Amino acid sequence: MTDSRAPSPADHPAGRHCGFVALVGAPNVGKSTLVNRLAGARVSIVSPKAQTTRTRVLAIRMVEETQIVFVDTPGIFQSSRRFERAMVDAAWRGAADADLVVCLLDARHGLDAAARNILDRLAAAGRTVSVAINKVDLVKPAALLPLTARLAEQGLTDIWMISALHGDGVAEMVAGIAGRMPAGPWLYPPDQLTDMTDRLTAAEVTREKVFHLLHDELPYAIAVETETWEDFRDGSVRIGQIIFVERENQRPIVLGKGGQMVRRIRTAAQRDLEAMFDRRVHLFLHIKTAPRWRDDPDRYRDMGLDLPPPEPRQG
Ligand code: GDP
Ligand code: MG
Repeated sequence: MTDSRAPSPADHPAGRHCGFVALVGAPNVGKSTLVNRLAGARVSIVSPKAQTTRTRVLAIRMVEETQIVFVDTPGIFQSSRRFERAMVDAAWRGAADADLVVCLLDARHGLDAAARNILDRLAAAGRTVSVAINKVDLVKPAALLPLTARLAEQGLTDIWMISALHGDGVAEMVAGIAGRMPAGPWLYPPDQLTDMTDRLTAAEVTREKVFHLLHDELPYAIAVETETWEDFRDGSVRIGQIIFVERENQRPIVLGKGGQMVRRIRTAAQRDLEAMFDRRVHLFLHIKTAPRWRDDPDRYRDMGLDLPPPEPRQG
C-alpha cells in the first residue's frame, strides 16, 4: 500500500485493521456481481456482455474491527484501443495498490488462456494471489477438483469457491480475507458501502439499461453523464443526463421509432434509481453526438480513468 497510509500503532485505535483487496480477472468472470454482493447494494453494473465495467468501483465491508475495501476493476484483456487500454491500466493499477489480490476464475473455464495470462503477469510482478473460483453453481462439485489440483501445481493454494450470484461461499471468503488485512485506521466511515457518488451511480444505471436494451457494438460506443441534479423540497430529484454517441447515425437507434427506445431506457433506469435512492426520480435523457468522447480527458476523469498515451504500448 502507499506510504501515506502506512499505519503507525499510535494513530489508530487498537485492534483496527484496514486494507484494499483488488478483484481482478478476465471480462465476465463475475467481478461486478461479487462487488455488488459485497456492498449489499448495486454499486457496479453487471451485464452478460464483456467490458461493461469502465470505472473503478469500491465495495466496503466491515468485519468486526476490520474494514475491507474491495476494488472492482474493468476486466483485464489485450487491447490496442486507447480507451480499452485505459480500462486495463486501471485494473492493473488497482492490483498494484492492493494489500491482497483476488483473481476470479469462471468455474466453467478454469485456467483458460485469459486466466493464465493474468496469473502469469501477477506472478511476474511478484504478487501473491488468492483465487476465487466463481459461478460454482454452474458446475458439478466434482469438476472443481481437477481445477484446484491444477491451481496447486502453479503454487496457488489459497482458493475460495463462491457463487457471487447466489452468495454461496462469499461470507467464508470475506471472513478469510478479513484475517489478512494489515493493522491500520479505517479509511471510510464504517457504515459506508461504496465510494461511488450518486451522480456517477445514476449514470451507470442508465448505461446498464443501454447495455440491456441495445444490441451488438452500440453499447460500447456510448457514454452517459449526469449533467444536472436538482433536489426538490418534496423529496424528489430531477436528474438530467446526456447519452453520448459517437456517430450521428447512432442517434436514431438510441432514440428508437418515435422515441420509443430512449423512453424504455428512461423508464427502466428511473425505476431502478427510485428503488436505489428510495425517492421519486424524474429522469431526463438527452442524446448528443460526441465523436471523440473516447479521446476526451474529461470523459475519462468522470470515469476515474487516466487517458493513456495514444501510441500502443507493449505488454
Ligand atoms: P465482470 O465482467 O467480471 O464484472 O462480470 P459481471 O459481474 O458483469 O458478470 C458477468 C455475467 O456473469 C453476468 O451475466 C452475471 O449475472 C453472471 N454471473 C456472475 N457471477 C455469477 C455466479 O456466481 N453464477 C452465475 N450463474 N452467474 C454469474
Ligand atoms: Mg464488471
